[in-house]
Amino acid sequence: MVTFLGFATSVRRRKVVDRMTATILSSASESRKRHVCRVLRILRSLDSPAVYSTFPVIESMIRVFCTVLAGLLGLAFGSFLNVCLSRWPEGESVVKPRSHCRSCRRTLTWWENVPVVSWVALRGKCRTCGAIISWRYPAVELAIGLLWATVVWQAGAASFEQFIVSEKPYAAVFSVLLKMSFLWLLVALAMLDAEHLWLPNWLTIPGVVLGLINVIVGMFSARRYSIVEPGLFIAAFDWAGGVIAAAGLILIIRWTYWLIRRREGIGLGDAKLMAMLGAWLGLSGALFCFGIGVVLGALFALTALALPASRRDSENWLAAKLPLGTFLCIGGIISALCGQPIIEAYKRWAGF
Ligand SMILES: [Zn+2]
Repeated sequence: MVTFLGFATSVRRRKVVDRMTATILSSASESRKRHVCRVLRILRSLDSPAVYSTFPVIESMIRVFCTVLAGLLGLAFGSFLNVCLSRWPEGESVVKPRSHCRSCRRTLTWWENVPVVSWVALRGKCRTCGAIISWRYPAVELAIGLLWATVVWQAGAASFEQFIVSEKPYAAVFSVLLKMSFLWLLVALAMLDAEHLWLPNWLTIPGVVLGLINVIVGMFSARRYSIVEPGLFIAAFDWAGGVIAAAGLILIIRWTYWLIRRREGIGLGDAKLMAMLGAWLGLSGALFCFGIGVVLGALFALTALALPASRRDSENWLAAKLPLGTFLCIGGIISALCGQPIIEAYKRWAGF
């Protein structure tokens, strides 16, 4: 057993050393070469299989630790998002005053502000006035917590070795942080559209810009391009094409609908949201979101139509607006977390 372990780890070690040597040879920057040489020296000094065999264990411990940390951070940022979702539509500051009951205005104590736990402990009611605290509060907190944990867990699939050897480890960390903010924005927009049919420009337009930053950071971490190569311009052109085409699709539908019904069908906010999705996920990703959005919207409409309460005033119902933005955001979340395998499977199936 020990011999086997020693053999396995020595194979593993040789692989790492080979890969790192290749990195040194191909590395352009002097400081990077020095860094990799230093890591190699440390690895050589750990020349015992017993030490080396702990690497995978440390790897998975770091991965689990980071995932739990991201989940807890997500709960806190979800709690902050709840404050924003309650105060933005009223035009209030999200910083002042401190968290309070929106019915009796009493300032909450620290233990009434713990994400999810407080809502469960208070059974969804204010302690003093008994006003119902919407299930939206724990739902948004849980959503952000789970999404952030998933992003970090997925990013952790790249091993420790890859991380050490990679040319730009900080770019990888930065792109994870960007993806977390993208998901936060998607949940915010989904809730605002569901509750107020409102997709504020000051969320969607920064979302488009963040998408561009994400593309640039992604290029650096993949070490495919440097800033002087024409690759950057081609990628930027590609990016702009995706943004314009995604928004254009909504604008065409909006215009066609107006020609036929002489009434606004899809809002301009949805066009900007599609631009944001195009900026992050490319045109194929944005189209995927649109497909999911339309299917979910149709299912929602059919379900609502089947309920007797809404059928009674079906005249009003037909004129009522569906929160398309919410469904697009759900598509965006699915696409951001597992879009690539789905799109690739579809392309294979369709024979591209
Ligand atoms: Zn109260």
